[in-house]
Amino acid sequence: MTKQNPTAATMRNKDDLIVIAGAGGFIAGALTRYFHDHGFTNIRAVDKKPLPEWYQRVPGVESLCLDLTDPDNCRRAVEGAVEVYNLAADMGGMGFIERYRVECLRSILINTHLIEAAYRAGVDRYFFSSSACAYNTELQKDPNVRALKESDAYPAMAERGYGWEKLMSEMFCQEYWAERGLKTFIARFHNVYGPYGTWDGGREKAPAALSRKVIEAKDTGKLEITIWGDGNQTRSFMYIDDCVKGIDMITHCDDLIATPINLGSSELVSINQLVSLIEEIAGVKLERHYDLNAPRGVAGRNSDNTFILQVLGWEPSTPLLEGLAKTYAWIEQQYYDRKAGKHTPAGPYNGMPKTY
Ligand code: NAD
Repeated sequence: MTKQNPTAATMRNKDDLIVIAGAGGFIAGALTRYFHDHGFTNIRAVDKKPLPEWYQRVPGVESLCLDLTDPDNCRRAVEGAVEVYNLAADMGGMGFIERYRVECLRSILINTHLIEAAYRAGVDRYFFSSSACAYNTELQKDPNVRALKESDAYPAMAERGYGWEKLMSEMFCQEYWAERGLKTFIARFHNVYGPYGTWDGGREKAPAALSRKVIEAKDTGKLEITIWGDGNQTRSFMYIDDCVKGIDMITHCDDLIATPINLGSSELVSINQLVSLIEEIAGVKLERHYDLNAPRGVAGRNSDNTFILQVLGWEPSTPLLEGLAKTYAWIEQQYYDRKAGKHTPAGPYNGMPKTY
């Protein structure tokens, strides 16, 4: 029998104010919809992107365009909040985080000011979205990896830039609990994918990028695909519905206060296998080319789910093929909408930053 874990719906009043940072983006947009669908009536969604660029605008949700690297904006964002979810970050797939380390590091300003503002506002629970990139890279040099368990973050040798920012922000969360008694919750996400996420512009991650390439190949009739690296790199991919459900359970589990936990699928695949699954969904076979100079990240990475199974009796379990089929269908729709001249939020705000 599945364990009944406390969630926002069982612990909170439906009109308690929930603040979601980064809500114009992929995961926080889905989280906003999730709480709305669970009957919460007082949700404040915040992002620095202009509202028309948000992936999801949920009716009845207060949506604010604020840059959360600014302490005054953080104070404004969390005013009256009972719970705060920080998913705002300047981030993207490997192509982004290897090229824009300064932007990634600067996301530390968001968490630094937001957690202080949350503490001062008397917030009850604070969630931070960390990443598997916080893990020691020395342990990820072989495609046949041993799955990463929570203690593998130390001794620290995180992904340069992005991973170190996550590790430092995790520590902020731990010390705000230890010194000041703010209940903080930290999930280390392993690649998340699904509809309403970045699929073009340079920040997209492998499942979305490869889906788009397959769609383009079908559309243009040029039945080829370029894959970054040799395609033997391995990863696990978590479907967005599992991610938001996991965030809710983690944030309402008192055994997990200030305790980083993996939130990821343990279904390991190589990038070549991922391409084959997308080809199966699309009903095509493409000639594969490999760009060995492109960013490829670590050789292998998987989520060890022993700890989450132990505390929550649950782990992300949507089969990759099932989640990919939904993702592919959404990207295909976006692709043809854009081709037909309709506005789609894959525009400049989701693209690469200017570095001047
Ligand atoms: P995303 O880029 O779609 O969303 C992040 C949002 O944060 C964007 O809409 C962006 O505009 C916003 N943002 C950036 N700087 C901001 C600022 N100064 N003020 C306000 N908003 C700001 O990314 P996502 O995939 O939804 O990721 C959400 C969180 O999860 C991030 O912290 C990310 O590091 C983490 N994460 C994601 C994955 C993944 O696979 N998607 C994996 C590990 C960790």
